[in-house]
Amino acid sequence: MALIVHKYGGTSMGSPERIRNVAKRVAKWARAGHQMVVVPSAMSGETNRLLSLAKEVAPSKHTDAVLRELDMIAATGEQVSVGLLSLALQAEGMEAVSYAGWQVPIKTDSSYSKARIQSIDDVRVRADLEAGKVAIITGFQGVDDQDNITTLGRGGSDTSAVAVAAAMRADECLIYTDVDGVYTTDPRIVPEARRMARISFEEMLEMASLGSKVLQIRSVEFAGKYRVPLRVLSSFTPWDISIDEEARSGTLITFEDDEKMEQAVVSGIAFNRDEAKITVVGVPDKPGIASRILGAVADANIEVDVILQNVSHGGKTDFSFTVHRNDYQKTLDLLKSGVVASLEAADVVGDTRICKVSIVGIGMRSHAGVASTMFRTLADEGINIQMITTSEIKTSVVIDEKYMELAVRALHKAFALDESQTAV
Ligand code: ADP
Ligand code: ASP
Ligand code: MG
Repeated sequence: MALIVHKYGGTSMGSPERIRNVAKRVAKWARAGHQMVVVPSAMSGETNRLLSLAKEVAPSKHTDAVLRELDMIAATGEQVSVGLLSLALQAEGMEAVSYAGWQVPIKTDSSYSKARIQSIDDVRVRADLEAGKVAIITGFQGVDDQDNITTLGRGGSDTSAVAVAAAMRADECLIYTDVDGVYTTDPRIVPEARRMARISFEEMLEMASLGSKVLQIRSVEFAGKYRVPLRVLSSFTPWDISIDEEARSGTLITFEDDEKMEQAVVSGIAFNRDEAKITVVGVPDKPGIASRILGAVADANIEVDVILQNVSHGGKTDFSFTVHRNDYQKTLDLLKSGVVASLEAADVVGDTRICKVSIVGIGMRSHAGVASTMFRTLADEGINIQMITTSEIKTSVVIDEKYMELAVRALHKAFALDESQTAV
């Protein structure tokens, strides 16, 4: 007997029929003798619907007071899901009980819309499991120490599931979704993408942080920190396939540093359309400028990603960086309202029509020339690179958003990742 956590995403929970299907699958695992905790997301489209309702009622600035209410609203999607799934399990003849985040409780900090889990008390849930019940816990939400409902950021149910698995020392956390594993890139963009049977934790972390939304980055961080065995697999296989077959399907996130394994130089390609570029034009090229610009941005709690400072001409330079699109206007306003004047900069301009495309692979550590293959491939397609950033196991470029699909497809082919190509 094992303790297993299942997570089902929005599409997997997308209709009454799909919810009944989830219940049948979970019941199969429970009947095989496993203790089952299930973490579902809101039904697909529901979180968007709730947030746009809020926007219709009052399109307002994102103050803390507003964000608190947005979390209150968005969290209801998952509450409906746990109730429905519990009903469906009961209809299957199982004993099941649902919990909202605050009932567990899943304690978080108070950063509304991007709260971090601080602790999970598993006493109630464990008692249910001991009593032979299936426990169903809301994804995406928690409660802060003032009893305010919080949410963990878009895609946060992955993180809820892995955090619950870590807290309960589950034997495995299975993330059921609408694809049958982690692919070399998003199969919606590149139909030739290949499923990986295994991916190293480090690569998964990079892929998630660079925009592959198949797993929320924080869930991968949790899995790494607590060594949670994690697998991504499809919820669309027939529910009655054997547990053995199911448990071997999808993609396993591995923690072994398997040096003997023949590593592909580039394992995957990620892209991110959520960023925007800001350029402070004509700043004096002297010490302290970067710190004053980025210091002001950091003080406003805005995260900066790619940074680029150009060579100076006549003592003046341009300083560019990217932020999340949600923070774009706030950053522009902030710089325009003070920093630009105090720095004697000529102007501050922005561009939201950018995207970041990244190649990822631990094999890049031991191979030179990978970045240049990337740049040549993009040049051959006539794609201009606006910014570049590299680390040991990734190279990212910022390009015009309209070339994103072309860039991803060309790179996928150039690094021999297509299904029909042999891995290099
Ligand atoms: P869920 O609702 O189950 O959480 P998500 O939409 O959050 O599902 O994540 C699954 C989606 O992630 C897939 O449908 C796919 O389009 C996308 N995706 C992006 N990158 C990848 C990748 N490298 N491998 C697999 N899926 C990916
Ligand atoms: N329902 C939330 C979202 O749409 C959380 C999730 O699905 O993981 O972002
Ligand atoms: Mg998701």
